[in-house]
Formats: sequence, C-alpha cells, structure tokens
Amino acid sequence: QPLVEVRGVRHAYGKANGAETLVLDDVNLTLYDNEIVGLLGRSGSGKSTLLRSIAGLIQPNVGTVTFPKANGPTSVGMVFQSFALFPWLTVLENVEAGLEAKRVPREERRKRALAAIDLIGLDGFESAYPKELSGGMRQRVGLARALVVDPAILLMDEPFSALDVLTAETLRTDLLDLWCEGRMPIQSILIVTHNIEEAVLMCDRICVFSSNPGRVIAEIKVDLPQPRN
Ligand code: ADP
Ligand code: ADP
Repeated sequence: QPLVEVRGVRHAYGKANGAETLVLDDVNLTLYDNEIVGLLGRSGSGKSTLLRSIAGLIQPNVGTVTFPKANGPTSVGMVFQSFALFPWLTVLENVEAGLEAKRVPREERRKRALAAIDLIGLDGFESAYPKELSGGMRQRVGLARALVVDPAILLMDEPFSALDVLTAETLRTDLLDLWCEGRMPIQSILIVTHNIEEAVLMCDRICVFSSNPGRVIAEIKVDLPQPRN
C-alpha cells in the first residue's frame, strides 16, 4: 500500500495584476515504503509547491494528497535549501522547536532533541548558535529538527544546493549511511533537486518534472552497479 498518493494536483498562484500562473498541472506521484524518491526539475518548475502540498502547508486548487497507510494525515518532516533555522536559538533549541507544536513535555522534548543531535553528528554543538556553524553543520541542524518528530516521510527541498561540493557529498553520504543502516525512523524520503548526479546517487527512483506547468513526465528507476554505501 502506498505511503503517499498525489492525484491530479493542479495549482495556480495569483499575480498582482489579477492573472494567475499555473504552476502544477495534473501532477500524479506515489511514494512507497522504504524508498528514496527524487523530484528532478528545473528551477521554477513547481517542485517546492508540490512539496508544500504534500506537507499540508498549502492546499492545491484541484486534486488530492492522501496517506493510504495511515488513518489521516501522516507526520512529515521538512528540510529547506536555506536551512530556515532560528538565528536567536541555539542548536538544541532549534531542534526542540521541531516539537513545539506537538505538545511534548519539556523533559521529553529535550531528550528527543539530544537523540536527534547525536544521530546527525552534532554532539558538542548543542549550545552553539547557527551563525557560529558552517553551512554543512547548519543543514545538520535542519535535518535534526525534521527528524525529531519521528516523521513517516522526510521531504527535502534542495537540501544540498547551498553547500559546497565536498560538504554536500559528506552530508549526503552520512544521510545515506543512516538510511541504509535503518537508523532513521523514516519510511520514505522525497528529495527535490535540479542536480541529476545527486538524484542518481541518492534515489531509488527519479520523477522527472517538466516546467510551465510542472508535471511528472517520466519516472526512472535507478539501478546502480554496486551497493549505495
Ligand atoms: P521550484 O521549487 O521548482 O523552483 P516553486 O514551486 O518554488 O518551483 O515555484 C514555481 C513557480 O511558482 C515559480 O515561478 C515561483 O516564482 C512561483 N511561486 C512560488 N511560490 C509562490 C507564491 N507563494 N506566490 C506566487 N508565486 C509563487
Ligand atoms: P526555494 O529556492 O528554496 O524553493 P524560493 O526562493 O523559490 O525557495 O521561494 C522561497 C519562498 O518565496 C517560498 O515560500 C515561495 O512560496 C515564495 N515565493 C517564491 N516565488 C514567489 C513569487 N513569485 N511570489 C511570491 N512568493 C514567492
């Protein structure tokens, strides 16, 4: 049974002159358990809009996003290109902020945040502020904050695009190691990228997105000549 089913999603944004830009047109996408799926397309093709629809941050004009395996909405973790950290909060507080809306008791919030920090390789940096960290470490904070809610699905919007090549590679490898070793409490990852090499190296399956308007025009199954990690 699918984890997420996107069916016939269509979305337009209003413009200042009253006109509308159609960004997504009849998008269909299915996510299954235990897979990393890439959403590959040009900048501006509507990939972020699709992610936001899946996360429930926006309601598409037409079509549905359902979670057939769960009775109701599934918990979703989201990671952003520019990290979206709170600069006035420490690493620990930023990660705990992921649990703020969840009414988790203070004690447990701290415990879970520390576990996520440890998992993602941030131990020792609990009381640092984002501005004191490198880009790679900042994105680790973003990841920890997404993981702390134990999401069924991890949505990543260009998570490595703001990092230099080596940092991106290290973070990608660390993430894949955690995934392959089953150390992340996640059932599926959807990763948005415009980088085909990144998509191939990370994903089991790639959905190719067209622009103007955005829709899935092809799905590619990735067969690697050797194991991923
Ligand atoms: P991508 O993630 O593929 O770069 P986006 O979903 O961010 O694409 O954006 C698709 C198009 O919709 C772009 O032209 C963008 O400028 C526009 N857009 C995105 N968000 C909004 C918004 N909140 N209001 C108006 N236009 C938007
Ligand atoms: P990313 O590159 O991480 O996908 P963007 O720079 O495309 O992010 O968008 C950042 C934010 O600005 C998003 O919340 C998006 O909805 C909004 N946005 C993007 N394009 C437009 C637009 N043309 N008009 C209004 N808001 C927009």
